[in-house]
Amino acid sequence: GSWVRLPALPGVPSPTLRFDGEVFRLKGTGELVRALMVLRLCAWPPLVTHSLEVLSWCRRLLGSRLSGAVLRASVYGQFVAGETAEEVQSSVRRLQALGLRPLLAVPTEEEPGTERGGEGWYEGNLSAMLSCVDLSSPPADPAAPSPALMQLKVTALTSTRLCKELTALLGAPGGTRELSPDSLAAIMESGQDPHISSLSSQQNQHLGASLRRFHRVAQHARARGVRLLVDAEYTSLNPALSLLVSALALRWNRPEEADRHGAAWVWDTYQAYLQDTPERLGRAAEAAERRGLAFGVKLVRGAYLEKERELARRAGTPDPTQPDYEATSRSYSRCLELMLGQVSRRGPQCRLMVASHNEQSVSQAARRMAELGIRPDGPVCFGQLLGMCDQVSLALGQAGYAVYKSIPYGPLDEVLPYLSRRAQENRAVLHGARRERQLLRRELWRRMTRRP
Ligand SMILES: Cc1cc2nc3c(=O)[nH]c(=O)nc-3n(C[C@H](O)[C@H](O)[C@H](O)COP(=O)(O)OP(=O)(O)OC[C@H]3O[C@@H](n4cnc5c(N)ncnc54)[C@H](O)[C@@H]3O)c2cc1C
Repeated sequence: GSWVRLPALPGVPSPTLRFDGEVFRLKGTGELVRALMVLRLCAWPPLVTHSLEVLSWCRRLLGSRLSGAVLRASVYGQFVAGETAEEVQSSVRRLQALGLRPLLAVPTEEEPGTERGGEGWYEGNLSAMLSCVDLSSPPADPAAPSPALMQLKVTALTSTRLCKELTALLGAPGGTRELSPDSLAAIMESGQDPHISSLSSQQNQHLGASLRRFHRVAQHARARGVRLLVDAEYTSLNPALSLLVSALALRWNRPEEADRHGAAWVWDTYQAYLQDTPERLGRAAEAAERRGLAFGVKLVRGAYLEKERELARRAGTPDPTQPDYEATSRSYSRCLELMLGQVSRRGPQCRLMVASHNEQSVSQAARRMAELGIRPDGPVCFGQLLGMCDQVSLALGQAGYAVYKSIPYGPLDEVLPYLSRRAQENRAVLHGARRERQLLRRELWRRMTRRP
C-alpha cells in the first residue's frame, strides 16, 4: 500500500502518511521535468555502470563549457546542492521551504587499497569539513525544533591503509588492549602522537595527525551546534571506524557536553546488510547506557553489497553480508525495533536516523513511533538522498516528521566521481525509481490538463 494510517495515542499526533505523489504539487514544473528525465536516464544500467566514461565522452563531444552547462541542468542539478557557499545556502533554503532539512556531505573518494597524496590531502579535507560545519551550523534560533546534522567520512581524514591495519590489529588476540576507545580518547585529548607497539613510527605519526583532525572537527562542530554522523564503509575498515567513533563518543557524548537537545554529538552508522549488525548494535546501545553516554545511530541497509561479496570471494573468506534482500530487510526491521525501544526508554539522549528510501521501512518506523508514543518531530528522524524518493521525503516532511536530505556539494569535477559511485551503489534504488517516475508523470499530466 502507498499510505498508512497511524494509530492514535493520547498526547501524540498521529499523522497520515501517504506516498502517492500528492506532495509533488509543492514542486515547480521545471523541477518535475528534470527529475523525470534524470531518473529515467539513471534507470538505464549501462549508463550508470559507465557513467564516468559517458561523461568524458560528452566533454569531448560538446566541449567543457557546454557539457558543464548540460550537467548543471541535469544530473548535477538533480543530486548536488551547488558549488559555492551561496549556492548551497540557496538550495538549503529551497529544501527548508518544503519542510526538509539539510545533511551536508563533503564528497571525497578513496578506494580501499589506494592512497591519495599524503598528509596534505587529509589536511585539505579537514578544511573542507570545517567549512561544512560552518555551512551546517544553524542560525541562532533557540527555538529550532531539531538539531543540525552533517555527515563525516572517516577515510577523508585518515588513510584506508591505516584503518585496515587497525582493523586487523583489533581482530588479533590481545590487540584491543592498546587500542581501546579510552586510550585513543586520551591520546586525542593530549594532541600527542601515540606509541602503539604494533604500528611503525610513520603509522603512529599518521594516527596522531588523524586523531588531531578528528578532535578539531568535533570541537568545531560542538562549538557551532552541529552533530556529526559518521559514515560506515567497508567491513575491512569498519572496526577501525567504530573504534574512532567510540573514542570521540567518550569525549563528546558525555552528559556534561549536552545542550538543550540532549542529543549525542557523534553518531555511528549501522549497516543492516551485515550479518552481525543487530548484535553489534545491541551491544553498543547497552555500552553507551552503562557509561551514561548519549547515543546516536544512523541506520542504513548498506551501500557496498557487491564490493563486499567480491572482496570476500577474492580473499576466500565467508561473505559478511545477508544472503538475500529479504534477510537484509528483516535485519533492518530488527535494528529499527531495537533502536525505537531504546529511544522510548532513554528519551532524547538516544537518537535514530532512519536512513532509507524504502516505503515499508519508513512506514514501519512511523507506525511504531506512534505506538510507542514517540513524537514525529522528536528523537527519531528520517534521511534520504537529495534528488531521490521525494514522494517519501516530502510526505514525511508535510506530516511533521524531521526529514534530512543528504546533500553533496562542491565543484563539478570533484563531485562527479562521487556521484558516479553513489549511482552505482544505489543502482537498486535508482532502478526502483519507477514508481517515483510514474508519480512525477501523473503530476505533470495533471498540470497539462489543468485538473484540480
Ligand atoms: C542519509 C543517508 C546516509 C547514508 N549513509 C550510508 C553510510 O554511511 N554507509 C552505507 O553503507 N550506506 C549509506 N547510505 C546508503 C544506503 O545504505 C543506501 O541508500 C541503501 O543501501 C539503499 O537502501 P534503501 O533502504 O534506501 O532501499 P532498498 O531499495 O529497500 O534496499 C536496497 C538495499 O538492500 C540491500 N540488498 C539489495 N539486494 C540484496 C541482496 N541480494 N542481498 C542482501 N542485501 C541486499 C542493499 O543494502 C541495497 O543497497 C546512506 C543513505 C542515506 C539516505
